Amino acid sequence: MSSFVYSEKPIQIERGEDVYLYDDADNEYLDFGASYGVAAVGHCHPEVVSAVKSQVEKLTFVQASYPNSARDALYEKLATVAPGNLENVWLCNSGTEANEAALKFARSATGNSKVVAAQRGFHGRTMGSLAATWKPKYKTPFEPLAGDFEFVPFGDEEALNEAVDDDTAAVLLEPIQGEGGVNPAPEGYLQAAREVTEETGSALVFDEIQTGLGRTGTFWACEQYGVVPDILTSAKGLGGGLPIGATLCADWIAEDAGPHGSTFSGGPVVSAAAEATLSTIVDEELVGNAAEIGSHLQSKLGGGDLPIRSVRGEGLMVGVEVKRGANRLLKGLAMNHGVLALPAGRTVVRLLPPLTVTEAHADHVVEALEDVLTEATA
Ligand SMILES: *Cc1c(COP(=O)(O)O)cnc(C)c1O
Repeated sequence: MSSFVYSEKPIQIERGEDVYLYDDADNEYLDFGASYGVAAVGHCHPEVVSAVKSQVEKLTFVQASYPNSARDALYEKLATVAPGNLENVWLCNSGTEANEAALKFARSATGNSKVVAAQRGFHGRTMGSLAATWKPKYKTPFEPLAGDFEFVPFGDEEALNEAVDDDTAAVLLEPIQGEGGVNPAPEGYLQAAREVTEETGSALVFDEIQTGLGRTGTFWACEQYGVVPDILTSAKGLGGGLPIGATLCADWIAEDAGPHGSTFSGGPVVSAAAEATLSTIVDEELVGNAAEIGSHLQSKLGGGDLPIRSVRGEGLMVGVEVKRGANRLLKGLAMNHGVLALPAGRTVVRLLPPLTVTEAHADHVVEALEDVLTEATA
């Protein structure tokens, strides 16, 4: 059997510890992409490993219709970090599923079908979330997708106000677009989205799958904008490496969410992993660390005399827009400097490190970037 979905990279990864990954020859790599942001508390965090180990021995799985203490502990922990009045949660296995549920719940609760999403937005690869994703390349071969999606330019208040009407079920936005190039919502935009959805009785949905869990320097990115949505989705780092997603909902959504379900929803092992991950983020004050190291990283990147067009983002979600293709730089970073990072489109190098990184790690990455950028222009 061979993989056909991914073009595999020429490094075989076998082991991980905190911010580092190790290949089959035990070479060390600084994982500044956190493996798509999943390793938010670092790889194999001891608290997560120990929670998983004890839970897997006690009860590996039970269906979600039976209460279970591991799942209850996660519910309790989520309640302490959830923004505003989002006191209801649906647990699933991935980001795209969390968004699928958000779309279903919003349609059911409003009785409407139209969803307004943003150009350059990314929400996942299953048929509903894919319909809300912007990039035509991801969608065209699979059409027809779920219907009634309308796209507006991200950050344009007027276009948003025009698109949202009394027939709108949801406005779905990333507070800071990730895949689309690391684009923070401009000042006032999310407030405008909050106002127009309130006026029309539509659900405001924030996809915080990439921006959440402290990455941007606050627990949720929406806190920086002072806006609480009706539905918020989380995944990626939530399980400390295990697959889990969550859809947090306000009461008016939860009360009329419609029938939904999934076999693996809220399994005890992933619940224990997520509870340990959230506790780690809080106990180790990783949100503050993301803010601090993130601003250090951004000021160092912006300070030099480098062929960089712009540095964007918040906290440890950073996009470095370069003048040449990002992929060649990423290859140089990995092969010559042992630094793994991610692209966000053709010309943006995306840094999404574990929230446990130090100034020294950030400095190392800046130096490595300087080096590959000068090589690329030489
Ligand atoms: C990664 C991501 C998703 C999809 O999550 P999967 O777990 O890959 O399905 C959705 N939205 C955003 C903003 C993401 O970054």
